[in-house]
Amino acid sequence: MKTIALLGSTGSIGMSTLDLVRQFPERFKIHGMAAGVNLKRLAAQVKEFSPRVVSIKHEKDVPRMRQLLNGQRVEVLWGEAGAAEIASANEVDVVLAAIVGGAGLMPTFKALNAGKEIALANKEALVMAGELLVSAAAKKGVRLFPVDSEHSAIFQCLQGNRRDEVDKLILTASGGPFLRTPLKRLGSVTVAQALKHPNWKMGRKITIDSATMMNKGLEVVEARWEFQMAPERIEVVIHPQSVVHSMVRYQDGAVIAQLGVPDMRIPIAYALAYPHRLKGNWQALELTRHGELNFLPVEHKRYPALGLAYGALREGGTMPTVLNAANEIAVEAFLEGRIGFRDIHRVIDKTMQRHAATRPRDIGEILSVDRWAREKASSLVNRNNGRIKAWKA
Ligand code: NDP
Repeated sequence: MKTIALLGSTGSIGMSTLDLVRQFPERFKIHGMAAGVNLKRLAAQVKEFSPRVVSIKHEKDVPRMRQLLNGQRVEVLWGEAGAAEIASANEVDVVLAAIVGGAGLMPTFKALNAGKEIALANKEALVMAGELLVSAAAKKGVRLFPVDSEHSAIFQCLQGNRRDEVDKLILTASGGPFLRTPLKRLGSVTVAQALKHPNWKMGRKITIDSATMMNKGLEVVEARWEFQMAPERIEVVIHPQSVVHSMVRYQDGAVIAQLGVPDMRIPIAYALAYPHRLKGNWQALELTRHGELNFLPVEHKRYPALGLAYGALREGGTMPTVLNAANEIAVEAFLEGRIGFRDIHRVIDKTMQRHAATRPRDIGEILSVDRWAREKASSLVNRNNGRIKAWKA
């Protein structure tokens, strides 16, 4: 029996994880759950899964949360410290880290330092502080299991093979909803269009990241740290069907791929039950239903965000932290209709241009660079003055 701390329980990954717990009660139980502002959903989850403790984003919401819990015996914490306390509790065997964005960093960092195994969905944490997280895990002798479908695929393709014979990692990208949109129309696409991912149903932030391909950029950084691979040996190819989740090419030229239906319960189950494979109630892949599988090179003019991520990795140090923070601000501004789709990468680019990367010695430095970049990106967004289409820099 594995005892789980589930961070981000009310989100897309959180709910898929709870579905696994529902399917495999003899294998998994929930010690604690952390969420943001969806108190009603959290209260329903408490009723079903009976955790000992929950945490919510704001202290001011605690009375309302207690009211919704209606006398159930569960401790209620709040804020980053609340999520971190749940993740580091003695009872916990594994932390499923699925808070979206930079808010997930500190709870994950504290859990690693408490010697907890991590199943990591929150890629932003690794982008912000990859080197520090990986070295904290090594110091404590704990493992980081990838949840992201691409990284889970790579992890699976590496099983039973020699790391020193890997030539490159090949991440697949669907291309998102604008794969075939004429370039000149990208400036005026709407939020609703950007939120229509062709293959996956996910949270709003990652769905916009998929449309810009920043998601793949963040995944390149994630792969760099998770698999200790030089950036020039991580390649991205477009694969519109999202059936091949990623691949590893070995030095003899052979490529090993992992395929599956787009259902996050499969990589989550692999991360939580490794090395076992669980027989869940999801669909198995039937290749003949899919017809053709296509692979295309990335058109860089269409997806400048990917180039920014490679650039941040080349600069190294605190530059990926800046990339991530500026992206979070720009995506939020886009979702609020304050900037256009093509302004997202411009905000990130300009924020990065104003930063001189340094090698962070501790998490405090990461957090202060993160704050700086958020302020800088916000001021760029505000200077754009609510204009939707045109970016005036
Ligand atoms: P969602 O937006 O669906 O969920 C985000 C979760 O984080 C919610 O539970 C939300 O709570 C919680 N949250 C947000 N801010 C805070 C905070 N300050 N404190 C505590 N909890 C907070 O996102 P996804 O589930 O789609 O993604 C989660 C992470 O997993 C992201 O990093 C994403 O990149 C990664 N990922 C997601 C995939 C997917 O298929 N969805 C695939 C691969 C990776 P509330 O809703 O209550 O406010």
